[in-house]
Amino acid sequence: MSGLQRRDFLARAAAFTAAGAALGGATRVAAGDPSFMNNVPDPLLAGHELPTFKFALERSEGKVIDGSFGKEATVVQLPISKGIAGVSMKLQPGAMRELHWHATAAEWAFVLEGRVRTTVIDPEGCAETNDFNPGDVWYFPRGHGHMLECLGDRPCHFILIFDNGYFSEFGTFSITDWIGHTPKPLLAKNFGLPEAAFDGFPREEVYFARGARPPEQQSIPLQGRRLPPQTHKYELLAQPPHKVFPGGREWRVDSSRFPISQTVTGVVLDLEPGGLRELHWHPTADEWQYVVEGSVSVTMFGSHGRYRTETLEKGDVGYVPQGYGHSIENVGGGRSRVLIGFNTGVYKTIDLSQWIAGNPTDVLATNFSKPAELFEKFPRRDVFIAPPGAAKE
Ligand code: MN
Ligand code: MN
Repeated sequence: MSGLQRRDFLARAAAFTAAGAALGGATRVAAGDPSFMNNVPDPLLAGHELPTFKFALERSEGKVIDGSFGKEATVVQLPISKGIAGVSMKLQPGAMRELHWHATAAEWAFVLEGRVRTTVIDPEGCAETNDFNPGDVWYFPRGHGHMLECLGDRPCHFILIFDNGYFSEFGTFSITDWIGHTPKPLLAKNFGLPEAAFDGFPREEVYFARGARPPEQQSIPLQGRRLPPQTHKYELLAQPPHKVFPGGREWRVDSSRFPISQTVTGVVLDLEPGGLRELHWHPTADEWQYVVEGSVSVTMFGSHGRYRTETLEKGDVGYVPQGYGHSIENVGGGRSRVLIGFNTGVYKTIDLSQWIAGNPTDVLATNFSKPAELFEKFPRRDVFIAPPGAAKE
């Protein structure tokens, strides 16, 4: 596309967006096809260059209270990440991320270090308490109230993923914030208690509460045990990997294995030095990446000749919008590990090798103006992870 054509394309795209906005929500719903929303051009992705898709999450400041911290990557820190936000959180022994809910996002988490206990309530009044070890995952549906606390005498560290890039961990609905701003007579009436019962309650949001270390044995809730039909816990790394290749391996959990996780799929991708998660795209989801170990080169292709490469180090976050071509290659000296989240409960990928293998050689010969015999040498099935030094003479 020439510069002139491109400007024309962008102008038409802008006019289309304006027309879409004028339609109004009711008409959009009546149209019945939510994928229509994907057709509205995102101004951030409509430029001549692709914007950065990297953010140094662990090097950011975040919110620190008594050695516990929360660091976040939302559209504020990483503007491209409109579909998914992420948080790195560490809790000291005896620290609790207080009772809260998220009005606009579901929460998915992966434990990196230490042990965590959670409780979560659902709209049916069922509550579940779970204890998590490194490699375990939790999922809390949008709006369900929960708390997180460090178990044992060592700090815990976990990564949270939210299915909304505009979601901020620091804009959650916390129980102290609510009760601290509700008049005592109303609280007294609500709970059938004297007003004095609420004397000395925190007046502002506590966020990280501190107290005694939780008992090893889970305590019984006030209402007794009323367990929900679906568990909120999945032991991801306790399972055998989903895919194993000489160049690496992948664990994956979506709603087919973890039914409550309707809006998030999680992946742990290990690559050997030089290993490559091949060129591919996801037709139904955005991809959020967090480098747990090592250093990886991530490429992204965004149509119109736009191509960008970023090197992500340990603690960095990457983001690939739905449908954008990309690859991940271990460029460090040791094994790399990347935690990946998708904003879908059903994982889908189309890998470049598979796409090519799905076409006959005459099509490929014409497409590339090369002899058909050349394509006889191409893989006949999905490569998925290419080994180090895969190039053959
Ligand atoms: Mn939360
Ligand atoms: Mn991917």
